[in-house]
Amino acid sequence: THFGYQQVPVDEKAQRVAQVFHSVADRYDVMNDLMSFGVHRLWKRYAINLAAVRKGERVLDLAGGTGDLAERFSRLVGPEGEVVLADINASMLEHGRERLIDAGVVGNLHFAQVNAEALPFSDNHFDLITIAFGLRNVTDKDAALRSMYRVLRPGGRLLVLEFSKPVLPGLGKVYDAYSFTALPLMGRMVTGDADSYRYLAESIRMHPDQQTLQEMMAAAGFERVNYYNLTGGIVAVHRGYKF
Ligand code: SAM
Repeated sequence: THFGYQQVPVDEKAQRVAQVFHSVADRYDVMNDLMSFGVHRLWKRYAINLAAVRKGERVLDLAGGTGDLAERFSRLVGPEGEVVLADINASMLEHGRERLIDAGVVGNLHFAQVNAEALPFSDNHFDLITIAFGLRNVTDKDAALRSMYRVLRPGGRLLVLEFSKPVLPGLGKVYDAYSFTALPLMGRMVTGDADSYRYLAESIRMHPDQQTLQEMMAAAGFERVNYYNLTGGIVAVHRGYKF
């Protein structure tokens, strides 16, 4: 444990995650902007550019939440393409659906309530899978990566955007202080729920670092796996291919 907070045992994790995102769904977008000072938009833009989506492609945005990535992808693949916004949490999905309908995104966009560990899609289906700030919430990450590999078509790519390990000297300390004190405080002020944001800080801290995630992706079958550090490694984008 760090700063006296309890680590959530694995068997309670899925339930805890469900509770957290149900609790924050309404204020989720506002909190993202506040907590990251708006920078999450730049991180997402970086990942979207790296994805290099083409017209007509089939895209799965896994743990897609309120649909920031799916919205962009839906416009980029055009009417011949297909985008599935998939999330385990009904509250997050519902919020995403309303938001995207309001934004005028309809036609090629589908919604699916799924668990990343056991994807209900056919083999070799998607050209691109993205999972942004989602993998750290998944209990069995190796099972999830294998499941993503299965539904990706040969030649397709996976992009994982996730908090990672700061690589700039001193940044780790500042960042820990921020995430374990300011973050729950902001969480309480905006959502009335400090516990959920304490969980998020802990989940960020426990997530595999750059090298470990690279190895996990390779173990699941992905090839040419590499990563890009953003904001001094606070966040990293990993990319791997299925051949
Ligand atoms: N991708 C969005 C973004 O970047 O704003 C949402 C990220 S949000 C921090 C994490 C999402 O992961 C939540 O919506 C949560 O419901 C979802 N999630 C957690 N565990 C999951 C699982 N096992 N399978 C699918 N989605 C999951």
